Amino acid sequence: MTALMDQDQPLLRVSSVTKYYDLMIGCRNVSFDLWPGEVLGIVGESGSGKSTLLNCLSTRLEPNSGAIEYNTRASGLVDLFTMSEAERRMLMRTDWGFVHQNPRDGLRMGVSAGANIGERMMAVGARVYGDIRESAAHWLGRVEFDIDRMDHLPSTFSGGMQQRVQIARNLAVNPRLIFMDEPTGGLDVSVQARLLDLLRELVGDLGLSAIVVTHDLAVARLLSHRLMVMRNGEVVESGLTDQVLDDPQHPYTQLLVSSILQV
Ligand code: ADP
Ligand code: MG
Repeated sequence: MTALMDQDQPLLRVSSVTKYYDLMIGCRNVSFDLWPGEVLGIVGESGSGKSTLLNCLSTRLEPNSGAIEYNTRASGLVDLFTMSEAERRMLMRTDWGFVHQNPRDGLRMGVSAGANIGERMMAVGARVYGDIRESAAHWLGRVEFDIDRMDHLPSTFSGGMQQRVQIARNLAVNPRLIFMDEPTGGLDVSVQARLLDLLRELVGDLGLSAIVVTHDLAVARLLSHRLMVMRNGEVVESGLTDQVLDDPQHPYTQLLVSSILQV
């Protein structure tokens, strides 16, 4: 171990990340820093490379070139792709969360809501049943889930409730960084609005850092401090959320904001 996490360094440092699928561009030459407590929104129409980038950042995909460094608790900034697979897996369990658009991708559908959360806690060493159950109930409460249903299977819940359980499952290990890919994308508008309020509250209260992919500018406006606008795999504009949305500089962002583009 060299040094503790360096507070003067970003939590995530992304340099010229490029990912191709054969000859197709997924994302190209993306660079940015994410600071502790910051929420970064990634917006752009379908096919612009948002998910590709998010999957590279969270190490689900390996970029063709570029570097992604994470400010580890033990050693400060470390290139994610020089770590061993086991080290990366450990990070995913202890430091990171990933909220999928479809709760089925982020939940175990065959076990109860409570067990979905308990399982994550056991993966980081929790052993005492009473503590695990109490903590699962705590996190389900934080996402405003009806505790009386904690022993029921996710398949018996509405989409909005499933999404709440997925969020609780991700929060239960006290992560520092949460990746979200269209976290409210599959839900009815009224359900979306309530979930967004909850997400914003949780991220603020817990001081989480987050990277949120969305094609919905209203979601980006509500959740993110800073925005990156992507088109054809590249970042065309970035800045503070209000600045980008209220005074867009790039013609593509202007089109997005004026809703001329169907996103
Ligand atoms: P978004 O999330 O913004 O909709 P994606 O990252 O999914 O965009 O896609 C970016 C580009 O990469 C698109 O042209 C898409 O067709 C392509 N792409 C995404 N995933 C794959 C894949 N698994 N294989 C081949 N091409 C892909
Ligand atoms: Mg996508």
